[in-house]
Amino acid sequence: MLEFSVIAQDGAARRGVIRTGHGELETPAFFAVATQAALKGLDPAVAAAAGVHSAICNSFHLALEPGPEAIRRAGGLHSYMGWAGVLATDSGGFQVFSLRHGQVAEELKGRRRLPDYGHQEDPLDAVRVDEAGADFRSYVDGSRHRFTPENNMRLQQALGADILFCLDECTPFHVTREYTQIATERNARWAQRCLDAFREIGLAANQSLFGIVHGGVYPDLRRWSAQRIAELDFDGYGIGDCLGESKSDWYSVVDLVCPLLPEARPRHLLGVGEPDDLVEGALRGIDSFDCAMPSRIARHGQALHLGLPRNRLDLAKADRKLEDRPIEEDCPCSACRRFGRAYLNHLVRAREILGIALLTEHNLAFTNRLMRRIREAISAGCLAELRAEVRAGAAA
Ligand SMILES: [Zn+2]
Repeated sequence: MLEFSVIAQDGAARRGVIRTGHGELETPAFFAVATQAALKGLDPAVAAAAGVHSAICNSFHLALEPGPEAIRRAGGLHSYMGWAGVLATDSGGFQVFSLRHGQVAEELKGRRRLPDYGHQEDPLDAVRVDEAGADFRSYVDGSRHRFTPENNMRLQQALGADILFCLDECTPFHVTREYTQIATERNARWAQRCLDAFREIGLAANQSLFGIVHGGVYPDLRRWSAQRIAELDFDGYGIGDCLGESKSDWYSVVDLVCPLLPEARPRHLLGVGEPDDLVEGALRGIDSFDCAMPSRIARHGQALHLGLPRNRLDLAKADRKLEDRPIEEDCPCSACRRFGRAYLNHLVRAREILGIALLTEHNLAFTNRLMRRIREAISAGCLAELRAEVRAGAAA
């Protein structure tokens, strides 16, 4: 059972500590994405030294390869991937349903007719959803698999992370309100089943389960989902599902949902992590975040840096050749301590793997330093000032 305590508040923003079986995590916190039980090119020991304290793996991918038995035999994900910090697993529902709703993009491009998702006979082959669970085809070998709330809890229990998320269907922006309602109501029933299964399995005392609030961009569905999920005694609460197309869409969702969630439990915003997003989320009472962006943009030669357009430094650009100074003078990561922009620019343009590893380290170190600044600003009561600084870059 996870313990959470709030130690300082600044308006709706709160600074706290989550205590898990793998140490304490100061909040607001950022979970680095380690989809395949790896931080994409970064040694976990290097990541830890750069200030990464928490990571999230994907149970859908790990269920297919290497499979839960291989990870259980290794003593769980922590020892399997050499990670001593706090670890979460998501249910994999998002990926399962990306297979399903990925077809919508094809429809929008005019390549395929949009199927009726609410219909009982789902015409899609990749994923079928019914009340009991979701049936999907492996992208590895084409074999068919089934996730139910019950077997997903057993899967995540075998993986052994500290924080587990309920199985859910994540709806995209372009489905109808009617479909979002069907999925939101089913997700609430699945949340109850996840909680029942979680308790019945009798998970190790140090594993915790987070429920997830749905409802897409529809205020009435969000309110219904938040109230329903908050009634269930989860260790923490995620805000998931479609958060809308613009930043103001998700601000509205979080503004509506946070006050409906129990004060004493941590709140996690799924899949959000731009520098300005982290500050805006914290201002609204979010305690943790996860996002693949810092590592994804590293693979495109982008380094996070406050004050530049979009808070990014583009190291793929030719004009960086002339600069010997580091990405950031005061960053303790090895990319900044040991190398200049000119060399990093060369690595990116030569497509050297080292360039990706160094930029991934910098971007994760940057994000965790920003989280520390957010926590300190909450204690000092000046989060609004940090917001102005971060926003200046985001809007540039
Ligand atoms: Zn750095």
